[in-house]
Amino acid sequence: MSSIFTKIVAGEIPSYKIAEDADFFAFLDINPNAKGHALVIPKKEVNKLFDLDEETYAGLMRFSRKVAIALEKAIPCKRVGVSVIGLEVPHVHIHLIPLNSMKDIDFKHKVNLKPKEFEELATVISSFLD
Ligand code: 5GP
Repeated sequence: MSSIFTKIVAGEIPSYKIAEDADFFAFLDINPNAKGHALVIPKKEVNKLFDLDEETYAGLMRFSRKVAIALEKAIPCKRVGVSVIGLEVPHVHIHLIPLNSMKDIDFKHKVNLKPKEFEELATVISSFLD
């Protein structure tokens, strides 16, 4: 069965998309730690980061960097935190989290956003992509 993230890539489940190319996809986390919390995934469905082939691994990092640079321009923050953590979804995903304090990287700390806020965030982050 396809992962929830494969379904998002296929458009079977809606998402607040930030960026996409042939191999990678970035979108807002639906249960964010902080405003702008984004996930970057390879379209190829692989469970664990270090099981990716080298080319996909390097491409994922390159794509994540682009998204992180846009995030930092779009969201006032001290820096963008990066995390590969958690056991919920068996499809590689990089968490990019705009940090203003260490609580923003605490996955027990969540912020509630309305659909309109998610939409606006995705649009503004996308507008800063090269
Ligand atoms: P992890 O596997 O890193 O523990 O967690 C998966 C992450 O994906 C969580 O931060 C969760 O909020 C996010 N997530 C799970 N399901 C969905 C979904 O359907 N849409 C979006 N945008 N994010 C999701």
